[in-house]
Amino acid sequence: MMSEKRKILVIGGGISGITAAVEAAEVGYEVILVEKEPYLGGRVARMHKYFPKMCPPTCGLEINFRRIRNNPRIQVHTMAEVTRISGEAGNFDVQIRLRPRYVNNGARIPDSLVDQVKSEMPDEFNLGMNKTKALYYPHPMAFPMLHVLEKDALSAEDRALLEKETPKGIIDFNMAVQEISEKVGAIVVATGWRPYDAQKIDNLGFGRCENVITNVMMERLVADSGPTQGKLKRMSDNEEIKKVAFVQCAGSRDENHLPYCSGVCCMGSLKQARYVREKLPDAHITIFYIDIRAISRHEKFYYDLLNDDHITFVKGKAAMITEDAVSRDAVVEVENTLSGKKMREPFDLVVLATGMVPNTAKTKIPMDSLRYDEYGFVKPWNGQKGVYAVGCALRPVDVARSVRQATGAAIKAIQCCKEV
Ligand code: SF4
Repeated sequence: MMSEKRKILVIGGGISGITAAVEAAEVGYEVILVEKEPYLGGRVARMHKYFPKMCPPTCGLEINFRRIRNNPRIQVHTMAEVTRISGEAGNFDVQIRLRPRYVNNGARIPDSLVDQVKSEMPDEFNLGMNKTKALYYPHPMAFPMLHVLEKDALSAEDRALLEKETPKGIIDFNMAVQEISEKVGAIVVATGWRPYDAQKIDNLGFGRCENVITNVMMERLVADSGPTQGKLKRMSDNEEIKKVAFVQCAGSRDENHLPYCSGVCCMGSLKQARYVREKLPDAHITIFYIDIRAISRHEKFYYDLLNDDHITFVKGKAAMITEDAVSRDAVVEVENTLSGKKMREPFDLVVLATGMVPNTAKTKIPMDSLRYDEYGFVKPWNGQKGVYAVGCALRPVDVARSVRQATGAAIKAIQCCKEV
């Protein structure tokens, strides 16, 4: 018989949460994995490629999805959030709220019917750069691969169509919010991160210059499943891109925004410079940086780009980005701190390397005893035995480090369950 002592709650279904869940379940522990989105994979699922091997997210995620699918000890709740935690290590009471998907679990809606639905809404997976139907698969490799119905975005005409044409038992317009209670022995907090809001960085033009985008938008723009099916064009007029700029530390290491370094966005831009080299071999790239933080085995990646004559590195913090009223170019103003020269240069596309903000900065884990630092990251020793934060809930880290930490958190959770 399974006692609550052998159950582990994992909050967050990104790469850290998935890893912790699989590791704990495969040594015999029951795991409840709670994810707020309709799919697992988190931020990694939205990347085009990731380090160190520049592989697509399918590489790391699909194998884990298979491990989840084949392991009856993992109970996955998507579109779910933990609303209350009480108790102590070995004996936590947890309340989970499930939002309605309006589509019954495991049911498939015929494509011919989905094709007839006309109601649309911003595609959140692609950061609102395109639209998706109100009845949709979240993305081509979503797990679980289940439709989601956004009832409020559905027109009266489409609702009538679905009510009439959907085979019985698939769509349930009366599905309600569900509350479930669980008892668990330990908790892994893997709530991840979100990008810093570039609209807040007044001087860098995001939201005012159409050809200024963020690094997370770039990941979707180059992806085959992205809003342009992987084609890189000027955002303002779909014209060819000849010059691209990457602006590092956009809002990071800045007392007015994020005082800390996110640690991964230098490598993120170097990786994205490679995307540009692959997709637009004739384009020229300029990278404006304060320092390039490429350590350990990533250093070679950096040196290879230093030797590329299509890429220029300029040491200097971008002071201002404006839009040329005629050409719509994004014009970057910066002082080159090595030469002392001021530059003012137009680009077809500027990518802002925005930093990471922990999701817990805004939405705290519903547990009074948990401690956070001044930026909202969960403290490593967080004041609560039996609760282990991991990945970007703890500090900004890359995928490889998140995975290693997640394995460690699973071991700590198991030890906690054994000790109490
Ligand atoms: Fe700036 Fe690079 Fe640190 Fe990101 S990783 S905050 S771009 S120095």
